Amino acid sequence: MSKLRIEPKIEKQLRNAKYGVHNHSAVQICTWTKKSLHNEGFCYKQKFYGIDTHRCMEFSPSAVFCGYNCIFCWRPMEFMRFRGMEADEADDPREIYERLLEERRKLLSGFPGDGKTDMKKHEESLKPNHFAISLSGEPTIYPKLPELVEFLKNLPETRSVFIVTNGQEPEMMAKLSKSPPTQLYLSVNAPNQMLFEMINRPSSENGWERFLRSLGIFSKMETRRILRLTMIRGMNMDPPYIKQYADLIQKANPHFIEVKAYMWIGFSRNRLRERNMPSHEDIRNFSKEIEKITGFKILDEKEDSRVVLLANEKEKIGKFIK
Ligand code: SF4
Repeated sequence: MSKLRIEPKIEKQLRNAKYGVHNHSAVQICTWTKKSLHNEGFCYKQKFYGIDTHRCMEFSPSAVFCGYNCIFCWRPMEFMRFRGMEADEADDPREIYERLLEERRKLLSGFPGDGKTDMKKHEESLKPNHFAISLSGEPTIYPKLPELVEFLKNLPETRSVFIVTNGQEPEMMAKLSKSPPTQLYLSVNAPNQMLFEMINRPSSENGWERFLRSLGIFSKMETRRILRLTMIRGMNMDPPYIKQYADLIQKANPHFIEVKAYMWIGFSRNRLRERNMPSHEDIRNFSKEIEKITGFKILDEKEDSRVVLLANEKEKIGKFIK
């Protein structure tokens, strides 16, 4: 069986959008990494967990494959394909890492000449020590994900590997519990099935049931567990929903919750309005309601990213990655 490849016309569009591509995988230089290389700021995960923004490699082994069609997604929906991935059509972890690292090096090659780049940071950025497996598509569709996590964790420079999942592949979640990333995110974008269907628009008939199964597996995973709630004003953050979120939070038993504003950017502007983007104050007020009903405590926030961090008082772990 030949290797799965992103369709040439989509690959061309991704390359035009400054992605590096190899077969079914893609890499990009995150906006915050660019800012950090210019000493113009760092991402909220550096503030909250101590990762090195300038040494972050943001990539995906399943860049255009996803079982959701989220209305708030900044990516072009027409890029996304709903399909599984067979082991013998998927690249091995080493090939993905080496080919994407080369692509990333090319994407970073223009910085030294721009007169603004911190050259010491640029040199360090060529050896990533943080891997954000979240760029686009759903990483749990990649059949060798546990092996990829182990491979990255065993690299000499690695400090942390983060995965963001939508929970649509509970079987892979179960496999991942044997080789968990440093930090695992489960995205929660709706408090109930009706809103889930409307906001995430899952391609599978039993999307909600799959999500709930993943939530159960997630709750027992022996790693840092983060629930990320994406809030859309006028859609999923009304007061009656607080109790429903609290029920999901209790089932998931995360160490931390990130309450994050939907951002009116990219292709999401064709599907939502600017007024659907909550202010940081909206996010802070919603987080206070979650704090009241769950007993989690607000621990930190980052206004320019419109995100608030809450910690589980019953299952305390250190905020910073070791
Ligand atoms: S952790 Fe996320 S936000 Fe931070 S630099 Fe990496 S990809 Fe960007």
